[in-house]
Amino acid sequence: MIFSLDVQKSFVKNIREKERRILMENLLISACLLGIACRYDGKSVKSVDVEALRKKYNLIPVCPEIYGGLPTPRVPSERQGEKTMMKDGTDVTENYLRGAKIAYELCLEFDCKKALLKERSPSCGKGKIYDGSFSGTLTDGNGVTAEYLMARGIEVFGESEIEKLI
Ligand code: SF4
Repeated sequence: MIFSLDVQKSFVKNIREKERRILMENLLISACLLGIACRYDGKSVKSVDVEALRKKYNLIPVCPEIYGGLPTPRVPSERQGEKTMMKDGTDVTENYLRGAKIAYELCLEFDCKKALLKERSPSCGKGKIYDGSFSGTLTDGNGVTAEYLMARGIEVFGESEIEKLI
């Protein structure tokens, strides 16, 4: 079979792109940061330079709240001590823990050593989260998934720290 030069060039380009992707590091990332409308209010929060990240990483999206079995949209939740509670009083501690475990399984499966997670979320937040009073007050602390991943050696970054990754 005879290929035109253009077909050959595109063939080689595709192979090089695949090789490049295989060699790139995998990065776990909160799905809502990629523009996926999985937040509690049914919206996304695309606020990171996805193209810059894609040049350096294979992006592995995760939404721990959805993987934990919660619907979208959903009643917002906040951490209250060891528990995670919805604003209507529903105890969703187990859902949050299940989502955290699945996020970690994804890290193992895809060999992600780093994660870029959405700040202030009761799942994904790192460093600051809402204080459990549903009054919009922040406190020191981590979301359930961020905490679970960090305890297992995954380096977690919030979206305001993206320069450390690109
Ligand atoms: S759980 Fe994480 S990924 Fe899912 S919507 Fe909340 S912040 Fe985004």
